[in-house]
Amino acid sequence: MKSAVFIERDGFLVKRINDGQHERAPHRVEELQINQDVLPLLRDIHDAGMLVFATSNQPGIARGEFSRRELDLMHTLIRQKLPIDQFLFCPHDEVDDCPCRKPKPGQFREATFEHRLDINHSYVISDQWQDAAAAQSIGMTSMMVESKQNGTGHRDFVLPSIEAAVSKLLHLHAHQSELFVH
Ligand SMILES: [Zn+2]
Repeated sequence: MKSAVFIERDGFLVKRINDGQHERAPHRVEELQINQDVLPLLRDIHDAGMLVFATSNQPGIARGEFSRRELDLMHTLIRQKLPIDQFLFCPHDEVDDCPCRKPKPGQFREATFEHRLDINHSYVISDQWQDAAAAQSIGMTSMMVESKQNGTGHRDFVLPSIEAAVSKLLHLHAHQSELFVH
């Protein structure tokens, strides 16, 4: 079984858009700013034999702020720059009460089923409590990157940056077989 790393798309793989009041996901290709700094990190994860998934809630689709087609186009462009195995997302809004809107673990569950992932050795990187909650409910390890959006609740590790989070999980991944022996 394969292990995987799930990374929150907005704020890590692409830059969040500052609307003055709050930060949000890019709504169209013209707003898309891909974070190229993570390229070596994603390569390191792949070199360790793990898959990389991008996850995000995209309620802008349910709210009519942008189309599914626009989102697919953005994901195609991101994939041309960053080695992402698959994009997972929730196109619904909170009132839809769907199973895929984080903090529910539907996005993680879907990929686990499709790729037969090893849940106990898969990781979730984000700066938002919703990801840590989803990770906990499915049994993955959460790597919380410090920010104002951390909220409260369970998280397995708190790290100062995505670089530190990837470094930590690669260390854990490399030593998992030893842990079983001792
Ligand atoms: Zn959903």
